[in-house]
Amino acid sequence: MDFSKNFEKTVQTFIKEFLSSHSHLSDEKVVHEIDDTKIAQLQKMGIPQKGRPLDLVVREMTEDIYAYGHNSAHPRYMGFIPGPASPLSWFGDIMTNAYNRHAGSWANYPGEYCVEQELIQWLCQQAGFPNTAGGTFVSGGSMANLTAVTVARDKMLPEELWPQGVAYVSEQTHSSVAKGLRIIGISNHRIRKIPTDGQFRMDIDQLRKAIKEDRAKGLAPFLVIASAGTTNTGSIDPFAEIHAICKQHNLWMHVDGAFGASMLLSHEYKKELQGIELADSLSWDAHKWLFQTYGCGIILMKDRTNMVNSFHVHPEYLKDLEDENNFVNPWDTSIELTRPARGVKLWFTLQVMGSDAISDAITHGIQCAKWAEAEIQKNSLIEIVSPAQMAVINFRYNPSHLSEAQKNELNKKISQKIIDSGFAGVFTTELEGKKVLRMCTIHPDTTREDILNTIQLLNRYYEELIRNEEYNPKSPNNHCLDTKPEFHAAKAM
Ligand SMILES: *Cc1c(COP(=O)(O)O)cnc(C)c1O
Repeated sequence: MDFSKNFEKTVQTFIKEFLSSHSHLSDEKVVHEIDDTKIAQLQKMGIPQKGRPLDLVVREMTEDIYAYGHNSAHPRYMGFIPGPASPLSWFGDIMTNAYNRHAGSWANYPGEYCVEQELIQWLCQQAGFPNTAGGTFVSGGSMANLTAVTVARDKMLPEELWPQGVAYVSEQTHSSVAKGLRIIGISNHRIRKIPTDGQFRMDIDQLRKAIKEDRAKGLAPFLVIASAGTTNTGSIDPFAEIHAICKQHNLWMHVDGAFGASMLLSHEYKKELQGIELADSLSWDAHKWLFQTYGCGIILMKDRTNMVNSFHVHPEYLKDLEDENNFVNPWDTSIELTRPARGVKLWFTLQVMGSDAISDAITHGIQCAKWAEAEIQKNSLIEIVSPAQMAVINFRYNPSHLSEAQKNELNKKISQKIIDSGFAGVFTTELEGKKVLRMCTIHPDTTREDILNTIQLLNRYYEELIRNEEYNPKSPNNHCLDTKPEFHAAKAM
């Protein structure tokens, strides 16, 4: 396929320009809004009958297509779970794509298979799993959870009991778990949302009670999903207690560590995940806190034969690629047949960085949230709704003269203002019925100054908004200061 004589030069130019813009990411806005004119322009581009010049289309890609949206690799983007991908990861990804090996069976990609499997074993060791353990790289946490609930169902429930199967999550469990459960046929009315305690952890007494009630109704409890780091607050469910209940009632214990399992690699904070080794399966996203480009999740199983039992296939057209050498093919341990060698970029990243540097990078994220907490504590108008935990903190401006509805609106506006300013991405979530500001600080390049400047800017927007007459009935002449400060203004602080 001869696209252009310039192919090599165009690729080189692109990479050079990309690297140079990436090194200035901190000066960019955290979110680039797309406007209606641009949307209309993109929507009417159509597919040409005759191809267009390579350089021109590359320019459109960089200037018109990839130029918008959330810069989730920006050091001050703290929304959702950011994706601070390491340049090592995208380099590893470029290589994976360049070779484009079919990673469904070991025969197709024996070298990559070896390093993927070695990495899986290493991750299992970090989780404290025994040497019966195994796993697969999947596209992300949602697929990891879907894989786990499928295996749990197949292992714990005879087929005739599938319509009675009940699974237990908490109020803070990630939505992808319920999505996965519905996909495997566990409908909403057989998914129990167990309330959480004051620290957003699954309430064990409520779990026990729910299981007893379901048993009494003739239903078939089979699975409890605990979280190692909930998305909202970073809370960690009580693994040992949940495990004891699972043992007693013969239930599968899955731990969703899509966000938080990475803390296992922090020498300093690993201990906070004690008990995670009790799980039967564990989800872990490398495209969150292991700094990988998207499409890199991991599902680990304490007993890898359970995955094979759920997913092995032996169709006639794949017999040439079956395992004379006792290698278990990835297509026999996961939902996918054709897949890219997703784990190799993580292996590559770890080879170049080393596990100590990964530990430091993860520990740094936890430290950033603690810095934020210390700064927030200086402002008595702020209520900390969930303390710094696993690099997440939730808080809100809480002036006593406002109603709850006004407080919700005020905090939403503060978030909108800081996003519009371009300086930092601080979004909102809801906890205990309150709209709160949330910072998830996992970027290894976020500095203490970034954190302090972000809090100071939030304080400033609060001061501006609170003078607005709607929040201050005593001074009706006080005009709203609805200024949109220039992006660089914040840097002067
Ligand atoms: C992000 C997340 C997921 C979903 O993972 P994706 O990679 O987005 O599919 C699941 N669980 C938790 C706790 C998460 O934070």
